[in-house]
Amino acid sequence: MIDVATLLSDLIKIDTTNPPGRERAAVELVASVLGDHGIESQTYAKDPDRPSLVARVTGEGDAPALLVQGHLDVVGVTDQRWAHDPFSGEVIDGWVWGRGALDMKGPIAMMVDALVRLSQGHPPAGDIILCLVPDEEDGGQFGAGYLVTEHPELFEGVHYALGEFGGFPFVFDDVPFSFIQISERVGVGFRVTFRGDPGHASMPVPGGAMGKLGRALVNLDKKHLPVHLTPPTRLMLEAMAPHVSAPTRLAIRGMLDSRTAGAAVAALRSRLGRMENLFRNTATPTIVSGGDKVNVIPAEVTLTLDGRMLPGLDAVTMRDELAELVGVDCDISFSTEHSRMPAEPDMGLFDLLASAVRKMDPGRVPIPYMSPAITDARWFSKLGISCYGFTPMRLPPDFAFEATVHGADERIPVSALRPGSTAYLDVFQRYGRSAGT
Ligand SMILES: [Zn+2]
Repeated sequence: MIDVATLLSDLIKIDTTNPPGRERAAVELVASVLGDHGIESQTYAKDPDRPSLVARVTGEGDAPALLVQGHLDVVGVTDQRWAHDPFSGEVIDGWVWGRGALDMKGPIAMMVDALVRLSQGHPPAGDIILCLVPDEEDGGQFGAGYLVTEHPELFEGVHYALGEFGGFPFVFDDVPFSFIQISERVGVGFRVTFRGDPGHASMPVPGGAMGKLGRALVNLDKKHLPVHLTPPTRLMLEAMAPHVSAPTRLAIRGMLDSRTAGAAVAALRSRLGRMENLFRNTATPTIVSGGDKVNVIPAEVTLTLDGRMLPGLDAVTMRDELAELVGVDCDISFSTEHSRMPAEPDMGLFDLLASAVRKMDPGRVPIPYMSPAITDARWFSKLGISCYGFTPMRLPPDFAFEATVHGADERIPVSALRPGSTAYLDVFQRYGRSAGT
């Protein structure tokens, strides 16, 4: 039997801040824990310091293989004030402290424990494949991106995958929901170029490249891209509606009607918070470059935008939306490669995951959720795999989950670890056996 809290502490003590990641020691630790319990694993690496681990518990062949994936790298802690050392892995007052406790070494410790428990009992219907990767936090080229491109054979026959995030609590309209991630936005980078007459700074040229940049930034700050009601968000709203108060239900009804969705989202803005990002593409200015001499007016300045696009939409349409919002003379090009998420999520696994969450945390209402952020799901979905975010965590009702992920004082209750592992085990054992999966 694995002590899940100790495994998590040990994983946190291995600093896998990305960049540079250097996840090798964490992979070796998991490989040795699995090996101690009779589960073999293989590693695959683009960079020997940054391997991925793949382990498999063989099923009876009654269902396709189920992929369970997670990332061993973490984000940094620069400029954050922590109450305890973020890489100590200390257990204090019943919480395991440290970077990665939630995102996502905690869920990985649960996955490993569940896989070991699974291997000691009756074989599952289909193979359960555990895949732990480096580099999720910095693009995935060394981890999921590498595996999907160079070793697609590892995932042959896989129909569904479980990864981050989902199964964590979220209170909306005083209702304790639990999100199960069924889809996510994709990243699209834009480079916006503004041009104008150059000249000597002693003789100002109004309306030049800098002026256009300024007007564009003001528009990006004040205005929003149009509202789109996508199938995942529709599913989420429909699942929420029966549980919320009558006024909120009315507002949700407004959002579900494409003619009134824009106004309804605007009316509920203050209460939606980050959920507003589920209704539109977003483009956030992050880098400005231009000008290199104090007395020279530049002929050209560029603005880089971090774009996030809703599932089912296409990048060219998003670029047109952006040109309209920016509202000044400029060229907009793509600065990154971009993919598309399918418009319609495959809901075939939802009921099984929801029932596992209900067993773990009976007070919560599991609902489908689309993440405004991106995960490695975008890589695995290239292989036609339907990816869910399922990281079951029984957290206290007042715990600020989303603020703590990537923030200071990341931690998880020791008491959440075994129930999370049990929820995974429940899914592994029932996958391919219960109706609808
Ligand atoms: Zn993560």
